Amino acid sequence: MGKLDGRVVIVTGAARGQGEQEARLLRAEGAEVVVADVLDDQGEELAKELGARYVHLDVGQEQDWRDAVTATRAAYGRVDGLVNNAGILRFHSLVDTPLDEFMQVVRVNQVGCFLGIKTVAPEMADGGTIVNTASYTAMTGMAAVGTYAATKHAVLGLTRVAALELAPRNIRVNAICPGAIDTAMSNPALLDPDADPEETSKALDGLYRKLVPLGRIGRPEEVARLALFLTSDDSSYITGQPFVIDGGWLAGVSVI
Ligand code: NAD
Repeated sequence: MGKLDGRVVIVTGAARGQGEQEARLLRAEGAEVVVADVLDDQGEELAKELGARYVHLDVGQEQDWRDAVTATRAAYGRVDGLVNNAGILRFHSLVDTPLDEFMQVVRVNQVGCFLGIKTVAPEMADGGTIVNTASYTAMTGMAAVGTYAATKHAVLGLTRVAALELAPRNIRVNAICPGAIDTAMSNPALLDPDADPEETSKALDGLYRKLVPLGRIGRPEEVARLALFLTSDDSSYITGQPFVIDGGWLAGVSVI
């Protein structure tokens, strides 16, 4: 018996990275999974491998959300879970951030999460779950990623309000706050066909040895296990909360 037998879950940004691992684990635990992304080839391939459905979903587009819910209902007849995972990161100091770039990040990270809640929650069976992907930078500042940090702080606000508003239907809404995780976002070399992924990951472990108490970058599979916990009945009395998964980074600094 899987932890998610009989449940139908949409995972956004699921073609690669954390979303891919979430889709894999939720499917392995018995859920029918809808893999949603803008990377159609990768998403289709993953869905085929998993026995899941792929939908093209740009999370900033309201009509794409409506179409994704229609496709989910057509395939599985219901929807019980949503993992709002899609996100983008841009590096600029705040004073150097072009407004267009600011709005682009808001559109994916913040509006995407809002539209997901707004479109999917009304369609969801009572007793559903929503997991929003925020970040370590939802809990503290980080220079050079001000736009990203602002949107991830906003995701926590959306999480708390949605949890209050949806609790009467027993729909639980929580947020994941990952620190540095070894995906293309923190390790762009993973997208370079000529780079050795093991070598680049080892190099990042070296960098994070100094920054993070547990001494290494996190793995997307570890985040997926938290998403499973928050999507399954193992977290049945938890809603409205941020869950930090960061190897202890947020605990403080070490002076010796
Ligand atoms: P990633 O770049 O590998 O994956 C992001 C996925 O989102 C990709 O598949 C991408 O195609 C998809 N995406 C981007 N824009 C989209 C859009 N408009 N509509 C639909 N899908 C879109 O990075 P990741 O680490 O797997 O990121 C997953 C989530 O985790 C993001 O929300 C990110 O902000 C968050 N996060 C990542 C880290 C990290 O260090 N990797 C840390 C904290 C939080």
